[in-house]
Amino acid sequence: MFTGKTAIVTGGSRGIGRAIALALAAQHARVAILYAGNQAAAEETVSLACEAGGEIIARRCDVSDSAQVKQVCDELIAGWGGVDFLINCAGITRDGLMLRMKDEDFDAVLSTNLRGAFLMTRACSASMVKRRFGRIVNISSVSGLMGNAGQANYSAAKAGMIGLTKSVARELAARGITCNAIAPGFVETDMTAALSDKAIEAALSSVPMKRMGKPEEIAALACFLCSDPAGYMTGEVIRMDGGLAM
Ligand code: NAP
Repeated sequence: MFTGKTAIVTGGSRGIGRAIALALAAQHARVAILYAGNQAAAEETVSLACEAGGEIIARRCDVSDSAQVKQVCDELIAGWGGVDFLINCAGITRDGLMLRMKDEDFDAVLSTNLRGAFLMTRACSASMVKRRFGRIVNISSVSGLMGNAGQANYSAAKAGMIGLTKSVARELAARGITCNAIAPGFVETDMTAALSDKAIEAALSSVPMKRMGKPEEIAALACFLCSDPAGYMTGEVIRMDGGLAM
């Protein structure tokens, strides 16, 4: 149980982030989800938690915007008196072959997925350092480990998150703060629903388990990384991908 703990989950309005936020709230953490603009989805996450007897609040915050990140994190941390868990899950894709990829598609993906994780980590870690406790979980991707044709921007961002994870882990380890990454494979969310049936079939053909992952499976791993038994694990990248990248 995470009674008395506080958590910020970026990208918590939908998909994997929603599942993580609900799983933390189900274990009695007080959770804030950050989202980009889909207010209806954010409100649905809040209602789902409420129906299950949990506590989630939602804040609109573009994680790539330094001023917004600072303002929202400062407000949450001041209200709670500190933050225990940060889950960097906000992410977007702008897929396309590298030769034809537009500058803005490269920059947008790097800004949300990588810069966002950096800004959030910087904004939350001072409170964690002060309290000598913290758990940071970055949602990377197998694309960051293997590369993926059509995802030069996304793979670069997700590989960058792994470097960020290890540097942050080294900087903060002595202060009781762990920082780990999860590298999911194909997971059933809006992000993968955008793929054609043919693309999903092709993708699953290289997954030994021959199925997509569920957001709840990733959420269970994120909860483990926040738990006391994971206290001696830091700088780790854990694949949860049905065997795709082994
Ligand atoms: P999703 O269903 O598309 O949800 C994306 C979430 O990120 C939404 O909550 C969205 O908010 C939020 N978001 C996007 N841009 C943001 C911004 N600039 N500031 C704040 N929030 C922002 O995605 P998902 O599939 O759950 O993916 C979650 C994470 O897992 C991503 O980092 C993704 O790269 C990673 N991942 C996913 C898969 C997969 O197969 N699904 C595999 C590997 C890794 P709104 O609702 O307001 O738009």
